[in-house]
Amino acid sequence: MQMRTEALFREQPYLSTTEATVVGVNDRGGIILDRTIFYATSGGQPGDTGHLLRADGSRTAIAATVTGESKDDIIHLPAAGEAMPQAGEAVGLAIDWERRYRLMRMHTACHLLSVICPFPITGASVDEQDSRVDFDVPDSGWTKEEVTRKLMELVQADHPVFTRWISEEELAANPALVKSKNVRPPAGAGRIRLVCIGENSSVDSQPCGGTHVARTGEVGEIHIGKIEKKGRENRRFRIRFGPLPAA
Ligand SMILES: [Zn+2]
Repeated sequence: MQMRTEALFREQPYLSTTEATVVGVNDRGGIILDRTIFYATSGGQPGDTGHLLRADGSRTAIAATVTGESKDDIIHLPAAGEAMPQAGEAVGLAIDWERRYRLMRMHTACHLLSVICPFPITGASVDEQDSRVDFDVPDSGWTKEEVTRKLMELVQADHPVFTRWISEEELAANPALVKSKNVRPPAGAGRIRLVCIGENSSVDSQPCGGTHVARTGEVGEIHIGKIEKKGRENRRFRIRFGPLPAA
């Protein structure tokens, strides 16, 4: 059973509830919908949790959302022992919005960090409390105080964050857009989604399929919790919510 699910979170990241129809249940017990607001784990951002609301008022808790054979296959994994909806059934969808919003704020913060630290990215992981970005750099020469201050300047400037689609040819003509050292945007898709920050992308633009806040001000207060040495040519920056703790 393969059917492309309409991914509403791409254009409407703030949509926390909607309705959809169950397309089917796969052989691993994953629920496929015709459309969804559940982001599937990808690009360092964890998938959404939440529930499906059935016509009889009962709920099917969704413990995780993952991609299938292709990144366009979105699979909703119910918690153990949940009652399964049937193909053709109309269901309400609700994501755990508090969690998702924190992930959107953190994910956007990771983009801001990549503006301040313009080094090749070797890995990233977005989390509700503590996100990390790994850079291929022997020594940034910066302290967490300096990086925190620069991050908060970008947050307080309240820059707009928006997406735009470009062709593979445009991307090929602008290789500097890709900051990830190991992960290349999918080739053959025809078009690439760019996440842009600032008027006319003045602050940043890079390929990304995740969910972000609409303005950098929404990121709120964040700080660099740690800059760790991970090998001779790798530095791991940890971003946390709240003010920098007093030393
Ligand atoms: Zn992103």
